[in-house]
Amino acid sequence: MAQSVLTINLKSIADNWRSLDKLSGPDVETGAVLKANSYGLGISMVAPYLANQGVSTFFVALAKEGREIRQLLPDNVRIFILSGYMRDDIHLIKQFDLIPILVSQEQFIRYSEDIPDHKFGLQLDTGMNRLGMEPEHFLAQKDNICNLNPELIISHLSWAEERDHAMNKIQLNNFRDLTQGLDTPLSLSATGGISLGKDFHFDLCRPGIGLFGGLPFEEALPVVSLEIPLIQIQNVVKGEGVGYNTAWIAKRDTTLATIAAGYADGLIRSLSNNSIVYANGIPCPVVGRVSMDLITVDITDLEMVPDYFEMLGANQTINELAEQASTISHEILTSLGQRYYRSYVL
Ligand SMILES: *Cc1c(COP(=O)(O)O)cnc(C)c1O
Repeated sequence: MAQSVLTINLKSIADNWRSLDKLSGPDVETGAVLKANSYGLGISMVAPYLANQGVSTFFVALAKEGREIRQLLPDNVRIFILSGYMRDDIHLIKQFDLIPILVSQEQFIRYSEDIPDHKFGLQLDTGMNRLGMEPEHFLAQKDNICNLNPELIISHLSWAEERDHAMNKIQLNNFRDLTQGLDTPLSLSATGGISLGKDFHFDLCRPGIGLFGGLPFEEALPVVSLEIPLIQIQNVVKGEGVGYNTAWIAKRDTTLATIAAGYADGLIRSLSNNSIVYANGIPCPVVGRVSMDLITVDITDLEMVPDYFEMLGANQTINELAEQASTISHEILTSLGQRYYRSYVL
């Protein structure tokens, strides 16, 4: 069957979590961010596995993502909702014991009216201007909010993957100023912030992409491999064009392999004419446009044509593929499609 195989190594995810955890002190908790179906890798597999390995705090974007894992996890595991509190979510939050991280003054007011006794967290805006309660709103309500014992106060860095960027220090100082004197647990860092050193760690770190092999966590073990089956071999002569809009023209007599995955599977079109797949460890260029279900590869120089070509794996990481596609590894992972045969390694 012409089906590609996506292999997800849960053990490597857990190893990456342990390595990230070691980068902060013993008093700093390391949670796991599993939004967007665990970065496309299957939250119902990843979350229970990590809980079993000692992760006790999870973050997802939406209440419905929290519902998906609540029953798979021990009761004492916390599930935070990064988008905060939307009124439609009231039943999910109560029934599935989710903790919204409130992101604005409006959310705080609405939440304290609707579910006054329920746990909550708070996100502060320290300069990213995406999500988070504005500093002036927080300062005006600080006592009021803190008397209700938030579980966690967080903020998010906008430049953490660049160590020396001035924004890191600015956001750190803003976060410190705003939270001075509080005994609420604090969290500032995702994967990038962890490597900025202990000033950035506070009480809890929240890595996502680093768990799955992505930069800026350089030491990450690769987690996914993707093998794509060969469906046809073609010979073209010098000067012939290949694929939609003849986006590639043979400069020599060429042997092509057509393999069975395309942009519908998350191999985005910017990989056209501009990426590599591996045949038993030998690099072969992708030629022509990536189409919905198919990719064409120049295999003229191969001595042996394999049944499967490696798009991700030992020879090519998500970071390398992301670079070829002019994007980040987060997008490569969350784009991975639903048609793959998914195999989990424990
Ligand atoms: C996505 C996200 C994270 C995790 O970020 P990574 O770069 O994937 O480690 C942490 N905190 C918040 C608020 C996020 O939105």
